[in-house]
Order: sequence, then C-alpha cells, then structure tokens
Amino acid sequence: MNAHVANHNELRELYRELILDHARSPRHFGKLQCPTHVAEGLNPLCGDRLTVELAIGKDDRIADAAFNGSGCAISVASASIMTETIIGLLRSEATGRQQSIVALLRGELEPAEDIQLARIRALAGVREFPARIKCATLAWQALRSAIDEDGTRATTE
Ligand code: ZN
Repeated sequence: MNAHVANHNELRELYRELILDHARSPRHFGKLQCPTHVAEGLNPLCGDRLTVELAIGKDDRIADAAFNGSGCAISVASASIMTETIIGLLRSEATGRQQSIVALLRGELEPAEDIQLARIRALAGVREFPARIKCATLAWQALRSAIDEDGTRATTE
C-alpha cells in the first residue's frame, strides 16, 4: 500500500508540473491568420479573459486553434491543453470532448478509462480546488461558443 501511496504522490507531482509547464509555455498562444470561428471567454471571478480562435476546414475538421488574452495560470494552462486536445478533431468530436471534459472538471463525471491523456487527468486535479474550477473550464466554454457560432456568416459566401 505504501508503494501505491508513493505512486499517487508521484503522479500528483507529475500532473502539477505538467500544468505549470503549460502555464509557463502555453501552446498555440496567439492569433490565427484566418480564423473561421472566434469566441471570447470571461471569468469575472478571477479576471481571466481569453479569446479562442479556430480554423475549421470544409471537411468540418479543426485544422488549427489558438488562444490569446490574459488569465491566471490555471486558465492559461487549461486553454493550452484545450488547443492541443482539439486540433485535428471533427467539430462533432470536439463538442463531445468539450462536454465530457467540462463535466469532469466540475466533478459531475468521474475520470473514465477513455480519458487517458495525462494532460486531461492533470487538469482534473482542479476538482480539489472548487474556487478554481471556473478558471479551468473557461477555455472549454469559449471553445463551445466558438464551435456553435458560425463565423462564416459574416462573409458573403
Ligand atoms: Zn483564473
């Protein structure tokens, strides 16, 4: 049992480092050249304000994603992990993933076997800090808004 506890602590440490790494060096931070879908997420409780940009191709696949703005370490790490998670997915797949991860972060869903990605498990550690859950879900909520909004409406297409 001691070995189990040690492994658990090692995992927690690993997850903490993974989150800090994403917060310090966020992936896909910036703007896309030609975003098709954009949405802003605001978390007034913490002051996090992030904009999510997607480039969804004619095949309905998310070809690229980026985020910009400012926020606390958890919101930035979560946004960074979000972009890495959804690039390459079909829009419908991203919506499904978004729903299960938001439920996971809110504690409405237990980490399932299908959530094998270390970065998602790391993010789920936020459940121990209820005040920070909105920080962690912010980018995912903005993702949903971006997916649901048809950015091409603004063009003459
Ligand atoms: Zn925050």
